[in-house]
Amino acid sequence: MTTLFISDLHLEESRPDITRAFLAFLEQKAAGAERLYILGDFFEAWIGDDERTPLQEKVAAALRNVSGGGTEIFLMHGNRDFLIGANFCDRAGAALLEDPSVIDLYGTPTLLMHGDSLCTADEEYQKLRVNMRNPQWQKMILQRPLKDRQQMARQLREISMAKNQDKEEFIMDVTPGEVVREMEAHGVQRMIHGHTHRPAEHALTANGQPAKRIVLGDWAENVWWLEVTPGASPILGKHPL
Ligand code: MN
Repeated sequence: MTTLFISDLHLEESRPDITRAFLAFLEQKAAGAERLYILGDFFEAWIGDDERTPLQEKVAAALRNVSGGGTEIFLMHGNRDFLIGANFCDRAGAALLEDPSVIDLYGTPTLLMHGDSLCTADEEYQKLRVNMRNPQWQKMILQRPLKDRQQMARQLREISMAKNQDKEEFIMDVTPGEVVREMEAHGVQRMIHGHTHRPAEHALTANGQPAKRIVLGDWAENVWWLEVTPGASPILGKHPL
């Protein structure tokens, strides 16, 4: 019995090496696992399930193949692909997972998040996030022609890149107090998230007890995953792309 966690692949046409690594990961690791959780920023950008690029279709078919083989697949939104909807999930044989969610991981309640909501020092981004997660705003955006949405995504990406270049390191990371607050609000001693591209295991105290925060890695240079089996400590795995 194995449960796998990945995040921040940032799949895009200009990085076919990442897509290849993901398809190999599905075949070699995910097929045969009990569950696969994808915790956000799976795609570099997402402007609606109706775009259906060859890359998206290939990935959906590969996921469906694995879920058809008996591996349950869960998909959480990231800050890049928060417009992924039910249509894509159906095509991929995946279930959309709320951010945050608590799961029972072989007896250990575990809080899953993408991680962007933990970066509270970036107040400007948190305001933007509230807008972008508003269902009415999303509905309005999704009604616009595909061409408009493609243009808008390009602009948003340029603005975001320009802004993040000026931000200090600590602003781009999680706020430690926010981590503790979330763990205590959900009554858990373990959290798994991505987003920061700083893979690590952190020991901390929450609810007056030892707790652990596991950060998944991004796939820009390495394939990163977390592997959990019953009765063993979670293992962060890695190999070069
Ligand atoms: Mn992210």
